[in-house]
Amino acid sequence: MTKRPFDPGSRVQDFLVFGEYGDVNPSVTDSSTFTFLTPETMEELFEHEIEGCFLYSRHWNPTNKHLAQALARMEDSESAQVCASGMSAISSAILQICDAGDEIVAAHTIYGGTYALFKNLLPRLGITTKFVDIQDLEEVTSAISEQTKVIYCETTSNPLLEIADLPQLSEIAKSKGIRLVVDNTFSPMMVSPIRLGADVAVHSMTKFINGTSDCVAGCICASDEFIHSLTDINSGTSMLLGGVLDSMRAASILKNLHSLHLRMRQHSSNALYLAEQFQNIGLTVHYPGLSSHPQHGLLTEIMNPGYGYGGMLALDVGNTKTANELMRLMQQEKVGYLAVSLGYFKTLFSMPGHSTSSEIPLEERIEMGLSEGLVRFSIGLDNDIAHTYERIERCLRTLEIVK
Ligand code: PLP
Repeated sequence: MTKRPFDPGSRVQDFLVFGEYGDVNPSVTDSSTFTFLTPETMEELFEHEIEGCFLYSRHWNPTNKHLAQALARMEDSESAQVCASGMSAISSAILQICDAGDEIVAAHTIYGGTYALFKNLLPRLGITTKFVDIQDLEEVTSAISEQTKVIYCETTSNPLLEIADLPQLSEIAKSKGIRLVVDNTFSPMMVSPIRLGADVAVHSMTKFINGTSDCVAGCICASDEFIHSLTDINSGTSMLLGGVLDSMRAASILKNLHSLHLRMRQHSSNALYLAEQFQNIGLTVHYPGLSSHPQHGLLTEIMNPGYGYGGMLALDVGNTKTANELMRLMQQEKVGYLAVSLGYFKTLFSMPGHSTSSEIPLEERIEMGLSEGLVRFSIGLDNDIAHTYERIERCLRTLEIVK
C-alpha cells in the first residue's frame, strides 16, 4: 500500500469531540472557574496537571483545550495553546524562551507588529534582536552568538512573500542548540513548520484559520513540555501575562477550522489565477505560485500537496499615489475592501508601507525591497475569479497602469 502524504485537512476532519448530550459540536465552557469535590484535589491540581480536571479558565478550560488539540493535529505538534491574539502567541512564546541578556536572530521581512515588539519593546526587558536577510543562510549563521536563543521567521514573509528555507534554518538552529520559532499565519495547512524541523509554530488565527474576520486570536504549537511550561502557575507566560482566548471564541474558531482546507484551496487557486493574469499583462507581481518567484521551487518541495501556493499576493504599481488610486477604484468596483488583515471571504487590500509594515523605518523598507507602491492582496473566495479579474483590469486601464 502506498503511504499517503501528510494531510492536515484530514487530520483536523478526523478530530471528533462530542458535546455533553451527544451534540455533534463539543459543549462550550461558559465558566471562569471550576468546582472541586475535595480540597485535596484542588491542592493536587495546583501542584501538577490532572487529566480532565480544570482549575481556572486563564490556566485551561475544556473548550480551549479542544481547539488546541485540533490545532496540534493540524500542525503535527505534540501540543498547542490558544491565545487572545497572534501578538499574544508571539510574545508569550518568545518570553517563555528568552531572558534578559538573550538575543533573537530574526528575519527583517516580518509583520510590522512583530518587528516593533522585537525592535522597541523587548530591549526594555534586556532582550535584543539582530535583523537579517533570512534568505542568506551565511548571514543567519554569523549573526548567532553565545547569547542567541531563537531564530525567528515567517514561513511566507510579510508582505514580500519570500519563502523561508525551514529545513535549512532548523539545521542551523539545531547545530547551535537554539530554537527555531516560525510564524505560519500566511500558510496554514499548506506548510507544516514543525514537520520541517521548527521547534515552535505560531499563528494569528485572526486570519485564515478563523477566516471570518470577526475576532482576534492566536495559537502556539510545540512540544508537550513547552506548552506545559506556558501554563506553569509560577513562571508560564500564558498564565502570568494572561493573554488567553475566551472560550466562546475558541468554540466558534473550532467550527471554522473545519472548513479551512476548502478555503485554503479556493484562496490559492484564485490567487494563482490573478497572479498569472497580472504577470501576463506585464505587471510586477510577487506570488510564490509563479515559476518566476525566486523560492517557487523551495515551496513546491516543502509544501503539503493539495492546498496550492496560498491566498496572498503583492502587486507593485510603482508609487504611493497610483497605489492609493488603484485601491480606491477597486473598492468602488466591489473587487474587495480597502482593509488590513487577511483570510476573509472577500478580497482585502492595503499598502503595507503605510499600514502593516509602517513600523519598519523607510530606509529599512527600501533595503528589503518593500516599494512604496506595493499593494498587498489577500485574495477572497470569489466564485467567478475571471469576472473579478475583469473588474481589476478595468481599474488598471482607467488609471493607465496598463495601456
Ligand atoms: N503574524 C502575522 C504574519 C500577521 O500578519 C499578524 C497580523 O496582521 C500577526 C502575526 C499578529 O496577529 P494579531 O493581529 O492576531 O495579533
